[in-house]
Amino acid sequence: MKTQAIKKPAHTFTVRPNLPNYEAARARFSWADVYKDLDGLPGGVGLNIAHEAVDRHADGPLRDCVAIRWLSPDDTVREFTYAHLKRLTNRFANLLKTLDIQRGDRICTLCDRIPDLYIAALGTFKYGGVFCPLFSAFGPEPVFQRLSRSRAAVLITTERLFALKVAGFRHRLPHLKYVLLTDADRHVGPDTLSLPRLFDGASDRFSIPPTDPNDMAILHFTSGTTGFPKGAVHVHDAVRVHYITGKYVLDLRPGDIFWCTADPGWVTGTAYGIIAPLVCGVTSIVDGGDFDAGRWFRILESQKVTVWYTAPTAIRRLMRTASEALRQHDLSRLRHICSVGEPLAADAVRWGSDVLGHPIHDTWWQTENGGIMIANYPSAEIRPGSMGLPLPGIEAAIVRKPDGKTAEVVTEPDVTGHLALRSGWPSMFRGYLGENEKYAKSFSGDWYLSGDLARRDADGYFWFVGRGDDIIKTSGHMVGPFEVESVLTEHPAVAEAGVIGLPDPMLGERVAAFVSLRPGMTPDAALHRDILGFARKRLGPAVAPREIVFQEILPKNRAGKVMRRLLKARRLGLPQGDTSTPE
Ligand code: ATP
Ligand code: MG
Repeated sequence: MKTQAIKKPAHTFTVRPNLPNYEAARARFSWADVYKDLDGLPGGVGLNIAHEAVDRHADGPLRDCVAIRWLSPDDTVREFTYAHLKRLTNRFANLLKTLDIQRGDRICTLCDRIPDLYIAALGTFKYGGVFCPLFSAFGPEPVFQRLSRSRAAVLITTERLFALKVAGFRHRLPHLKYVLLTDADRHVGPDTLSLPRLFDGASDRFSIPPTDPNDMAILHFTSGTTGFPKGAVHVHDAVRVHYITGKYVLDLRPGDIFWCTADPGWVTGTAYGIIAPLVCGVTSIVDGGDFDAGRWFRILESQKVTVWYTAPTAIRRLMRTASEALRQHDLSRLRHICSVGEPLAADAVRWGSDVLGHPIHDTWWQTENGGIMIANYPSAEIRPGSMGLPLPGIEAAIVRKPDGKTAEVVTEPDVTGHLALRSGWPSMFRGYLGENEKYAKSFSGDWYLSGDLARRDADGYFWFVGRGDDIIKTSGHMVGPFEVESVLTEHPAVAEAGVIGLPDPMLGERVAAFVSLRPGMTPDAALHRDILGFARKRLGPAVAPREIVFQEILPKNRAGKVMRRLLKARRLGLPQGDTSTPE
């Protein structure tokens, strides 16, 4: 490796010898080869996510291996082997046929993380339908928006959620042919049916019809952090990325117990909470319960989780909990930890080493990307605070995009610019539902523009700077909120921080911080002064916040991301825009 232009990371970690070396994997990688590792449908009739995830294991040596181990909120356990999952998903595909659902129709789910959600997703892929998961915590308006924009043909939900969130506008959804209730033991009306009854009546034999890799498979709404959620369209070919990232980034191998904590209501919960672990033939833990630090540590221990994929919002909450209590748990089975969703500060990476016994590997990607694009690999040195290196087969770059002109690649290191990906990877979104212009605008020449700003260091590691929309321009400086937030959270009293720019007659914008404190801290003037001083010393007066507001809870969306646009709108008394996604 070349010498680093940036400051040497505080921690470096040794390369694990049993994984393909990153450089070597990158040099010999070809997307076409990934097809060879996958099975393809019998008779060469295409590629289907559910075949790769379920049927090929069900028909092979992994048939009796547990595919999904589901933990209910009250700790009952249900296990589904690959063979069992094949039969259940066949039944689901058959019941769609009985209901005369067409290939390409949208099948939406609105339920907690219950087994039916997972069976419906995989059964939909088999049938050739389009799976569209919605968060069960959405209120009626966001549910209506998504059902109507996706023109859902089928909705799978529970009696309670239906009554609470759908019944009131059912008549305004002419495309919705059926509502299938997971907990009704008899049909409620001609188009409101009991899912268990349909299951009972369906055959468990089904053969997956020819599936073109470019057939639509998933419709996923973005998290709505920066504006109204967009519906990203994905195809079956995405499974090549799920497989290869499962292997190279998550280091999944048969025998692993993998736990992805994300809800399928956001893309990580679908790509890595459903598809990738099954494609890689491991046992996937699905926790039906909500976040609770003690419960999560109990799950890691009792389920003997080996690979864990979680998010900074959860990690920050765990860090807030007393580390001593956590140390009591036996996490010796844990081998590898990854994070996604927001920037992962360097101190969180190190907290992983200290408390969990393993550093946390940050990964970067978006709903639009369909799978992990940039990561700190288990087979390469971690740079704490960085997003890592591009996936083999993915070309990532920092580009300059002068308005109206085509993007040009910045070759010199450590320059902040637009983070772009060379278009054409298998899991790339194929459109924003009903928003062609917005889709076209996210490309410039060959490049997909992520909307995030980043820099690349001399060794090719990418460092997140901020979302394009969140960048603060203060007295001629460009300040990324993440940089300021990660310094603030290093102050011992600070739990979480959200940083925004406020209009300022002198500076253009001034940096303002919203801060929540660790338990037991008093939000008084002395602490305020202390945090300001700490930030100024670390960041310099130009970048440090000019004001700090103590706030017990920061607004977040369902994916757990701090919603800076809401902090700003509330502070300035402006309309809050789309508020369908806050927690
Ligand atoms: P919307 O597009 O509706 O505003 P969103 O961008 O939050 O919502 P997602 O697709 O779920 O929706 O999230 C992708 C975004 O999350 C990225 O563009 C980036 O800003 C942020 N992100 C994800 N992973 C990381 C990471 N490892 N480091 C920094 N930011 C990340
Ligand atoms: Mg986005």
